[in-house]
Amino acid sequence: MPPQIYLLAVLVALLVGLAVGKAWERYKLRDGRWIDRRRLRETPHYMLGLNFLVDNQVDQAIEELTHATSTDTDALEIQMILGNLYREKGQVGRAINVHQALLQRPDLTKLEQAYVLLCLGLDFRHGGFVDRALETFHEVLRLDSRNRYALVNLQKLYEDQHQWTEALRVREQIAKIDAGRSPDDQQILGFLRNEIGVAHQRAGNMGAASRAFTDAIDVDARTVPAYLNLGDVREQQGDLAGAIEAWERLIGALPDRAPFALERLEGAYRRLGTPQRFTDLCRRLIDRDPQGWRARLALARHLAAAGQHRIAFDQLLEALPSHPHALAIHQEIWEVLASLGFEAALIRRYVELAREAVFYLDPHICRRCRYRSTEPLWQCPQCHEWNTFVEERIAPAKDAVAAQAVDARS
Ligand SMILES: [Zn+2]
Repeated sequence: MPPQIYLLAVLVALLVGLAVGKAWERYKLRDGRWIDRRRLRETPHYMLGLNFLVDNQVDQAIEELTHATSTDTDALEIQMILGNLYREKGQVGRAINVHQALLQRPDLTKLEQAYVLLCLGLDFRHGGFVDRALETFHEVLRLDSRNRYALVNLQKLYEDQHQWTEALRVREQIAKIDAGRSPDDQQILGFLRNEIGVAHQRAGNMGAASRAFTDAIDVDARTVPAYLNLGDVREQQGDLAGAIEAWERLIGALPDRAPFALERLEGAYRRLGTPQRFTDLCRRLIDRDPQGWRARLALARHLAAAGQHRIAFDQLLEALPSHPHALAIHQEIWEVLASLGFEAALIRRYVELAREAVFYLDPHICRRCRYRSTEPLWQCPQCHEWNTFVEERIAPAKDAVAAQAVDARS
């Protein structure tokens, strides 16, 4: 589900909650006369509209809810929803008009005002009016300082502007509200601190960068790029042993993420004159996860560079069946075959193994929105979530039919 629709669903749930709360009163004094709120529920348009909404049929929902408002034009919830639907359809100007008109009403409660402002902030954000969106979400928070939706939107706006310190401050407020109930909080705090470190690193403030990366790891030990960057900073400062310590710490804490540190460690061990440490490390990683092709590829490259082409070739053929889509393995195999004088028996082994495998592009995929990338990314460029990329594991050709059946069920 795209994030805007998700947010819309949450808003609708909130608004329905508000509406139900109001049903307690049934009647409401407005402009000096009593309005029977039951009348609204007696028209089929209101219920039909809500049903279309749940079904994501935006055009029909707008039509029915517009009919419903002709029965009771004062119905705040319906106007708010209508405005949100215009925004979802891309009619941002119309959405802004609807929500701004609602704000003019003299009898809004503080809570109602906060929610209309929240909708208006979303309109501005959707339309790309960053400053007005920021201002509006801050206004929501002045009315309702613990409004999580306003805070989340503020955080994302600051992230879009690369204002990492502001984004971090907002996320800390969200974490306080969540009080440990949301497991994502620590992870996001870690990534934001890491981005602050990257900004310091680019500006040449190595001490501040180091502290930010260390903080990021302390906040959440899963912040992979913080280990990598901390090592890079130490290396730039001439502290090679310290750099190795940071990269090895990543492997100790998150062995699954070890491949991210391999290239750096290979270079560092070589410069220290202890290349054997790299071979040992790769073998430990392969023992731990025999399907992990990146450690095998790294080891194969390392061995090939040292002239041990045959052992390298065996490693590559071990890596191939579970990851036939990884072009890097094929390229390395041809390099090694070239070094071995294109021995016919070796080529035949490779061709037979490759034929049985399913070929597939783009090995990384966002768990949330299924955005595909050939690079592992820390923040998804499509849904902007943190740390959602996983590697797609593909079954060999003979299991492909079973794998498709599983896909069709899910
Ligand atoms: Zn995504």
